Amino acid sequence: MKTSVIGYPRVGGLRELKFATEKYFKNAISQEELQDLSLNLKRTHWQIQKENGIDYISSNDFSFYDNMLDTAVLLNAVPNRYKELGLDSLDKYFAMARGYQGEKGDVKALAMKKWFNTNYHYMVPEIDDDAEISLSGQKPFDEFRQAQEIGIKTKPAIIGAFTFLKLARFTGEKTIADVVADVVRAYQDILSRFADMGAEWIQFDEPALVMDLSSDDVQLLSDLYNGILADKGSTKVLLQTYFGDIRDCYNDVMNLPFDGVGLDFVEGKKTLNLIKVSGFPTEKTLFAGVVNGKNIWRNNYSKTIDLLIELSEFCQDIVLNTSCSLLHVPYSLKNENNLSDKHKMHLAFAQEKLTELTELKSILSQSDPKSSPEYKENADLFSKARDCENKDVQDAVLALKQDDFVRHPSFEEREKIQKAEFNLPLLPTTTIGSFPQTADVKANRSDYKKGNITFDQYTAFNKKKIAECIALQEEIGLDVLVHGEFERNDMVEYFGENLDGYLFTEKAWVQSYGTRCVKPPIVWGDVSRTKPMTVEHSAYAQSTTSKFVKGMLTGPVTILNWSFPREDISLKESALQIALAIRCEVLDLEANGIKIIQIDEAALREKLPLRKSDWHSEYLDWAIPAFRLVHSGVNAKTQIHTHMCYSEFADIIKDIDNMDADVITFEAARSDLSIVKTLRESGFKTQVGPGVYDIHSPRIPSVTEIKDALIKMLENIPKEKLWVNPDCGLKTRGNEETIPSLKNLVAAAKDVRESL
Ligand code: GLN
Ligand code: ZN
Repeated sequence: MKTSVIGYPRVGGLRELKFATEKYFKNAISQEELQDLSLNLKRTHWQIQKENGIDYISSNDFSFYDNMLDTAVLLNAVPNRYKELGLDSLDKYFAMARGYQGEKGDVKALAMKKWFNTNYHYMVPEIDDDAEISLSGQKPFDEFRQAQEIGIKTKPAIIGAFTFLKLARFTGEKTIADVVADVVRAYQDILSRFADMGAEWIQFDEPALVMDLSSDDVQLLSDLYNGILADKGSTKVLLQTYFGDIRDCYNDVMNLPFDGVGLDFVEGKKTLNLIKVSGFPTEKTLFAGVVNGKNIWRNNYSKTIDLLIELSEFCQDIVLNTSCSLLHVPYSLKNENNLSDKHKMHLAFAQEKLTELTELKSILSQSDPKSSPEYKENADLFSKARDCENKDVQDAVLALKQDDFVRHPSFEEREKIQKAEFNLPLLPTTTIGSFPQTADVKANRSDYKKGNITFDQYTAFNKKKIAECIALQEEIGLDVLVHGEFERNDMVEYFGENLDGYLFTEKAWVQSYGTRCVKPPIVWGDVSRTKPMTVEHSAYAQSTTSKFVKGMLTGPVTILNWSFPREDISLKESALQIALAIRCEVLDLEANGIKIIQIDEAALREKLPLRKSDWHSEYLDWAIPAFRLVHSGVNAKTQIHTHMCYSEFADIIKDIDNMDADVITFEAARSDLSIVKTLRESGFKTQVGPGVYDIHSPRIPSVTEIKDALIKMLENIPKEKLWVNPDCGLKTRGNEETIPSLKNLVAAAKDVRESL
């Protein structure tokens, strides 16, 4: 058996690409310097895989921002507004990724969305009526050559035609059917270029095949690949799927002339059964995704070997593969100096997963696999208890009653009580929580971590920032204030560090979007709160102003979704444990005079199962109750806010309303406000703050632009229910853009308010 990797992380073990790119954005380094650095990174990644014995190593898994964006550029799906800027190709690419505001024009970025059920975001390609799809880029060919130059023959990985078209947004009259012929030709051209270059394999990533597919979708898949593979030449084609099973198109895929098919045995609940029932064509190679590309626990060799032995009855030629790209896990445990060996031996990051693939290959090559030392060592690891249980927490979860999930009195009654209590103006203005994490804030944190300053010095500085932040918000004229979250590196990591049962890492960064990385903590054991985590900051902020300051917490579903979860207990059980911990914090905030508490569920939508039939049974049936448990104990006069990072919840809108928060803020600016109509139609009760501008871009929205958005919102949202806020936290922005943006927001709200 050979080994393969779908894709490797690319930001660099020490986030080198992130830092270089950000310097480039600030004109601190040249394009050549950025290119040189990225070439070195790519080489390092290829070499690491080679040294660790991987047979099929991907190229073109690198990206300056995102692979969907790369594919759009490769296929010439570049809207005119970016072409018209007259920028060179890399700057045009970054304009699509981040928007552009400068001497050459003012354009917004492409929309950004969550990549399936991960916390990675892709740029949504736009195909307008002028689009002429054709092969027009060099990147995959350049990268293949760059690897070849250091003696490594790679398999280029490219987003497949089906996934590309399904995720693209058609902005004019044209639909998918109008571009199929052009897309087919472009992919044929890609294949023939690679055949000329001597590529042995090419990998087309088609995660969209694990979604619910209609018969039209399956027809599209067949049309696309019958065309693309019609005259395919010498390069073998691997259809790579991941994040689930392909039950809706399994037989169709097997009937298409692919040389290899990549299937996911980690998240694909039905993958094995599909093979058992329908067989696997003898002429095809199975790329078996058995090493989890999304989670960080060691592979259980006994289970994997049993699976592979079973599979070998059905498949002649098997390649050991990751379940998805390793993009979703950190680089290497080698960077972690603070984790003890007792913990580390249970973990595998990207580099360690390479070792697992190679060990599995070696075990399987032996006549008696189960007697090999690697196998025995692994079996030994899994036979021991991990020392991670807390009986009190387990009992508290078991003791939960139905009424613990219900807040009294009803929403309608609370709404009346709170209107009188808070006496806020119509269209109250607020922000989502964090303020810019400027260089001084980061320096303070890193000085403290390095031991250069004491805890008291560290806290004193944060207090000073809080006071300044409150003063700034008062000056800007916001109605409901925040403390600014200067003490938080990240909205989940911060809680991970403060909760018992969590492990946290030093360098275990995972790319979230573009140059933004997150460091998900690891749920090691049963979770509990041992001390208040946010009360001091919030209470201090409230003591400096007569306006209301929102307490700011992260909700249990988001904490769990943005952590690496346990695999030995259910997600539901972990979520309830975390919910009980956050509930204590909510009650402590309330007891300390905080009247408005925001419990962010930024990532609630993200882990919605990809198949509709699983939405409730596998997720919402515990996720929504976990949120309700957090706030059900507060007084009617305490206002509970929540925030979600995107508005793509039209199809679960009842469940969102059922979270029973008093106010919800969410992103809407980039998705054309389509959600607000749905809110009205569904009779949404919760008050709403659809974001009026996009904080993921440095662009400053004008007063008129924000007023227009508010006026549109008011067509569907009663004025008593509308809040005015940006679409997410401001931590990644600078003060230069944040202050004028918020001033415009307040001015726009005032103008519209007067007209009501
Ligand atoms: N309160 C958080 C912040 O403002 C929310 C961030 C998020 O939704 N991603 O940073
Ligand atoms: Zn957000």
